[in-house]
Amino acid sequence: MRVLESKPQFEPAARTLIVTDHFRNQMGAAARESIINEIRRFELFTDGRSAQVALAKPDLIIERSRLIPALAREAEQAGAKLSFDTRFLGIGPNARGLRLEVESGGKREELHADSVVGADGAASRVARASGWPPIETVPLVQAIVRLPKDCPPDTTRVWFVPDDTPYFYWLIPESAERAAIGVIGEQGSDTKRCFERFLEKKQLEPLEWQGARIPVYRGWVPVRRQIGNGEVYLVGDAAAQVKVSTVGGIVTGFRGALGVAEALLQNGKSRELTALRRELGTHWLIRRALHRFQQKDYSQLVDLLDASTRQSLGEINRDEATRLLWNVVRRQPRLVLLGLRGLLMGKTEKSYKL
Ligand SMILES: Cc1cc2nc3c(=O)[nH]c(=O)nc-3n(C[C@H](O)[C@H](O)[C@H](O)COP(=O)(O)OP(=O)(O)OC[C@H]3O[C@@H](n4cnc5c(N)ncnc54)[C@H](O)[C@@H]3O)c2cc1C
Repeated sequence: MRVLESKPQFEPAARTLIVTDHFRNQMGAAARESIINEIRRFELFTDGRSAQVALAKPDLIIERSRLIPALAREAEQAGAKLSFDTRFLGIGPNARGLRLEVESGGKREELHADSVVGADGAASRVARASGWPPIETVPLVQAIVRLPKDCPPDTTRVWFVPDDTPYFYWLIPESAERAAIGVIGEQGSDTKRCFERFLEKKQLEPLEWQGARIPVYRGWVPVRRQIGNGEVYLVGDAAAQVKVSTVGGIVTGFRGALGVAEALLQNGKSRELTALRRELGTHWLIRRALHRFQQKDYSQLVDLLDASTRQSLGEINRDEATRLLWNVVRRQPRLVLLGLRGLLMGKTEKSYKL
């Protein structure tokens, strides 16, 4: 097996990423060393209100610049040959399978393969060359800042500011000293402007900037195409395998990769891909509901979460909590059908029952 990478070497830019604890089971021992912090609590803010959600299983903070070299070493140990400075250009059928056109060290070359897996990101050239339509992307801007004094290193903060973005701002501590703060928006220039204003308001000084466009999942992208006698698969951002409610693509991308490995070994069949499709679909429905949220909906949602936590601590009674839930349900009945309650509150120490 050959892995083609257009960059001259694996020196990925530092990037702090948050993933669910599912990541631990997906990775081998070396890749697990990319875990640099654990998150035990979320604090949600909107319009002067706040709520805390305790996580039953901590989320993990991972450092991409550690993860990628660890994965590369594991791939080599498993027999893969890594070719750097090798850019995929095009693909077509040949008598046996597939003919690939690549540029390696400035020279054009032809390679031959039975199967090709495109894991080349949101602007995937493998996907375009093989006939998949382009996927929609949104801008993500993130900055590294000193961790604010009042923020514990095991707590992620999320701000819902629907006037700025239908998504959210976040602050993810990577250590007791530093945090990544960021936002996802719809328009690149507006997103940057809102973000700068937000940083100023929070009196946070950016030490480094990170950013890119990330895919938006808008329905399952079939991961396989036949070209002549060969087959082409897509995994990760190339197939928009990103949870659109939180815009996280690491765990889902690895699930997509596992699914494609299963499909390659089992005549196209994969349980993992079926399960991934279901999960991405649920997140897409949640995102559609949240996209219509106005300030008062977020206020009610945060009040409801706060009530749920206080209820589990015995601070408020069932009737008050039920009234709050009812207000959210009345305005957004879809959310209940979609199980947002389960998704968000399943993470509280005690789940909330009507
Ligand atoms: C700033 C930022 C923060 C993020 N935060 C989170 C987070 O907290 N949690 C989370 O789960 N997700 C997060 N994401 C999303 C996550 O990073 C992506 O979903 C994930 O990296 C997708 O992995 P991938 O391998 O599919 O694509 P990529 O990471 O884009 O990798 C594609 C690779 O293909 C190579 N390549 C591209 N074109 C070619 C070519 N023609 N020939 C050869 N090689 C090529 C590239 O050099 C690159 O190495 C974040 C994204 C950004 C930008």
